[in-house]
Amino acid sequence: MKTIQCPATREHHEQYLRMKRLGISALSHGMLLLILALTLSLDLLTGFSWLGFVLLTFSAMVTQGAFWLLYHFRINLRFKDPSLTLIQMAIAIIWFSILISQLPEIRGSLVLLYIMVMLFGIFQSSMFEFAFIGLLSLVCFGGVIASDFHFRPDEINLKLSLVQWLILASAQTWVALFGSYVRRLSGRLKKQRSVLRQSNYKMQRANEELEQAMEQLDEIAGTDELTGVLNRRRFFEESRLRLAGTDEYQASALCMIDLDHFKKVNDRFGHQAGDLVLERFCQITRECLRGSDLFGRYGGEEFILLLPQTNQESGVQIAERIRLAFEQYPFDSIEPGLKLSASIGATLHRWGETLEETLKRADKALYQAKSSGRNQTVYISGARNTNQAFAGKGNAARE
Ligand code: GH3
Ligand code: MG
Ligand code: MG
Repeated sequence: MKTIQCPATREHHEQYLRMKRLGISALSHGMLLLILALTLSLDLLTGFSWLGFVLLTFSAMVTQGAFWLLYHFRINLRFKDPSLTLIQMAIAIIWFSILISQLPEIRGSLVLLYIMVMLFGIFQSSMFEFAFIGLLSLVCFGGVIASDFHFRPDEINLKLSLVQWLILASAQTWVALFGSYVRRLSGRLKKQRSVLRQSNYKMQRANEELEQAMEQLDEIAGTDELTGVLNRRRFFEESRLRLAGTDEYQASALCMIDLDHFKKVNDRFGHQAGDLVLERFCQITRECLRGSDLFGRYGGEEFILLLPQTNQESGVQIAERIRLAFEQYPFDSIEPGLKLSASIGATLHRWGETLEETLKRADKALYQAKSSGRNQTVYISGARNTNQAFAGKGNAARE
């Protein structure tokens, strides 16, 4: 999608275009001088010397150079029309008129130059400026005819010159009409472009908002409403992705956690109290985890943990850290002195096995933790030929 230019970049671009237009103008002057030099060297002109050529070249260099300096030092930006089209056109008309006045032999074809100047400003000039340039060229060309008539009446054909003047006047009128049509067209195009740019911008914004909303929706869809941890579906999705990215040398630990005698909390203090316990448990657990660990609610008061790049020792350590932190948390807001506990079943994910298989082992470990008196972590090894190991209350014990 096209990006919207910032004002500074746009100004830079416009200045670059002005320079380019000045380049075209300088090139036109250069081409004319080249033709003139050729005509001079072929001795096709009478009454025009190399001195005249040098003076014309010098004046062209001065005017074009002056414009270049104005652009280069950005002085042109102080003017209402930074392109300085009107003054460029006026100077060119005067310069061409001087040139034409010296070349009566090829005047007929050189009248074309006035039209060229008009076309130069077709996009930039207003109707008034266009009319002014048209009139200026007619006046200048009229001046050339008048000076010929005055200084060399015998050499010129006045009737022919007047016909040339009329041809120029009608061509200028045609260019002026055509110019106003082109300008209207370009104005309409500009307007359409700006509307398009605006709607593009709006569409971009709407897309961004939509993407944000989708992300939020996705987050909501994967989050447990009460506790803010991952829900079961999202936990499994994310865990599968994580495990798919590991190799046989990277162990991951999986823990199933079940709050002990949770039903009693509900029964004694109400469901609101039960909800508060679930929320606190999640807060405590999150504080014990790293950013890369996955934590989800398996259902009810059961939770599940995936600890990537974690071996048996660290896995049991983290599980114990959670268990101890929860065990020590004072639920005084529910009842002064109330303490609760959780049982944890831990195992390592065996490379190549499914998540369900690992989960089954963790569940088995949890069952053992429950049946061995609750408030403890039981670890069952993920290795195929290793016996079960236990980490128990307070001090982790292994079999
Ligand atoms: P155990 O030590 O054997 O795990 O016993 P328990 O009481 O913790 O387990 P049990 O499965 O008997 O009870 C779990 C209770 O959790 C039953 C259910 O009402 C309650 N529960 C499930 N989800 C929620 C919840 O979102 N909020 C509340 N307040 N209670 C819930
Ligand atoms: Mg349970
Ligand atoms: Mg329970």
